[in-house]
Amino acid sequence: MKTTIIGYPRIGNLRELKFASEKYFRGEIAAAELEAAAKEIRLSNLQLQKNSGLDLIPSNDFSFYDGVLDTAFLLNAVSARYTALGLSALDTYFAAARGYQGEKGDVRALAMKKWYNTNYHYMVPEIDDDTKIYLAGTKPFDLFNEAMENGVKTKPVILGAYTFLKLARYKGTKTAADFIEQTAEAYASLLQIFNELGAEWVQFDEPSLVKDMTAEDIALFSALYEKILPNKGSVSVLAQTYFGDVRDCCKALCALEFDGIGLDFVEGRQSLDLVRANGFPKNKTLFAGLVNGKNIWRNNYAATLTILDELKQHTDNIVLNTSCSLLHVPCTLRNETKLAESYKKHFAYAEEKLAELAEISKIADAVNPAETEAYCRNQALYSAQRSGRNDAVRAKVAALTDKDFVRLPVFAEREKIQKKRFHLPLFPTTTIGSFPQTADVKSARTALRKGELSAADYEKLIERKIAECVKLQEEIGLDVLVHGEFERNDMVEYFGECLDGYIFTEKAWVQSYGTRCVKPPVVWGDISRAKPMTVRWSVYAQSLTKKPMKGMLTGPVTILNWSFPREDISLKESALQIALAIREEVLDLEANGIKIIQVDEAALREKLPLRKSDWCEDYLDWAIPAFRYVHSGVKPETQIHTHMCYSEFADIIREIDDMDADVITFEASRSDLTILDVLKENNFRTEVGPGVYDIHSPRVPSKEEIKAAIGKMKARIPAEKLWVNPDCGLKTRGNEETVPSLKNLVSAAAEVRNENS
Ligand code: GLN
Ligand code: ZN
Repeated sequence: MKTTIIGYPRIGNLRELKFASEKYFRGEIAAAELEAAAKEIRLSNLQLQKNSGLDLIPSNDFSFYDGVLDTAFLLNAVSARYTALGLSALDTYFAAARGYQGEKGDVRALAMKKWYNTNYHYMVPEIDDDTKIYLAGTKPFDLFNEAMENGVKTKPVILGAYTFLKLARYKGTKTAADFIEQTAEAYASLLQIFNELGAEWVQFDEPSLVKDMTAEDIALFSALYEKILPNKGSVSVLAQTYFGDVRDCCKALCALEFDGIGLDFVEGRQSLDLVRANGFPKNKTLFAGLVNGKNIWRNNYAATLTILDELKQHTDNIVLNTSCSLLHVPCTLRNETKLAESYKKHFAYAEEKLAELAEISKIADAVNPAETEAYCRNQALYSAQRSGRNDAVRAKVAALTDKDFVRLPVFAEREKIQKKRFHLPLFPTTTIGSFPQTADVKSARTALRKGELSAADYEKLIERKIAECVKLQEEIGLDVLVHGEFERNDMVEYFGECLDGYIFTEKAWVQSYGTRCVKPPVVWGDISRAKPMTVRWSVYAQSLTKKPMKGMLTGPVTILNWSFPREDISLKESALQIALAIREEVLDLEANGIKIIQVDEAALREKLPLRKSDWCEDYLDWAIPAFRYVHSGVKPETQIHTHMCYSEFADIIREIDDMDADVITFEASRSDLTILDVLKENNFRTEVGPGVYDIHSPRVPSKEEIKAAIGKMKARIPAEKLWVNPDCGLKTRGNEETVPSLKNLVSAAAEVRNENS
């Protein structure tokens, strides 16, 4: 049985691409050096995949920032505000990715959104009425040729035409349907070139096919490929789906002239049923996604073989595949030198998944699969009892009743009590929590880890940073302060390290956006709070100021969504276990004099099932209660904040209101505050702080710009419900841009306040 993967992580085993890119951004290395670093990563990945015996190795899965952005450039869907800057091609690309502020001009970055139900973020392409889509770039061909020169005929991977048009944002009056001709022509030319270059397979990624599709969507999809595929020559074209099943477009997909269809049998709940019901087209190859591309657990060979056996009854044309790109898992277990073998033997990162594919393919071809050595080894792993059970926690979760999820008194009552307590001005200003994680903090953490710095000295440094941060915020004139989160490497990993039941890794980095990576902790057993996690820092910070200091926690849904979850108990069970622990921390903060507590649910929207029909049952029915449980025990005068980032909230706005927080801040500036109308229409009850400027870009927003944002907010939301804040935490920013940005924010709020009174 042949094997392939959908894509490989491109950041480098030790995040080499991140470090090279950031050096380039800081002007420390030239473009050629960055290109060389990138090439080295590509070639080493290529070698690795080749050595693993992988049959079809992807190319063009590399990206300097994001694959969707690459596709926008490939197809000339790039706004003139970037091309007109007159920068080099690479810098124009980075201007669209990160914004640009310099001698050539001042432009904002493209909007960024979460990639389906993952914690990866893509750049949203913009299409204007006058956008001319055509094949404008050569990157897929260059990378194909590069691999050829290194002895591998790869399977180029390109974001598919349908998904591209669905992800784009239409700035004018035209819609996706108006771009069918141009787009199809561009993709057809691309296939022609691959034909000439001698490619055997080309993979078009079409994850949007697993979402709910209307008749119009299906028509768009068919129209595109009816035009693209007839010119494909001798190249075989694979329609690759992932993150779900293709229940809506199954017929259309099979009817088109694709040579291969990639289905996800891990997340696609109906994938197997669809094959059972409809069979599989004789003339096509089934790329069967059976190795989980999102989680780090070893594949269960017995379960995989059962599905394979069933698939074999419908087709003998099967290529064994991962369920999605391996972009979503860390690179290699080889660098996990500290993790005990008793854990590690359960893990498979990207490199180990390559080995699993090879093993499964061998076993599947064996006369007696169950007797192969690899199969038996795998079975032994799965039948062994795992440690980490906590019966007390399980009992507490089982004993929860409806009233545990209700905070009293009701919101309106609390709002009055809190207004009296805090006496905040109109448009109170605050930040989302973290302040720039400067080099001194990061290197101190590294030194602590290596034993070169004592815990006492490390803690002294953190206290000094907190004191500086409090002083800075007072000088700037913010109303509700934060301690700055200097003690945290990451908003989830930090808690993972403090909770029992979690294990954490050393080098398990996963790309989140651009050069930013996260290191998700691993839920190993039942979760409980071993000790207070944040209290001492918040109490210390509060002791330095008369202004209210926000306690800062990450919520249960986000902790779970940004961890590698267990697969042996339900997500709901895990979320409630974490909620128990965070609630203890909330009550502890309150008991220690913290009056405002922010519980971040940055990732709440992220794991919302891609299909609406699965939303409640599969997710919202436990995610919202888990959050409510965290704060339902606090006093009426304690103000609970929450925060969410880059998401489309419109469709779950009621559920968000129903989380029953007192204040919510969220990302809004990158999407031009479009969320405001939705809040207005729904009579949003919770007080809100829609972010007034984008923190993912180094540019400094002017006071006027911020005033304009507040003006837009005021036009739709009652002034007494509005907060003014950046759209996310500041930890990835430098002080150079943070201080002037916050000064502008505070003076903008003050001016609007004066104009209002
Ligand atoms: N409190 C966190 C911070 O400020 C929130 C980050 C996030 O939403 N991603 O960094
Ligand atoms: Zn955020």
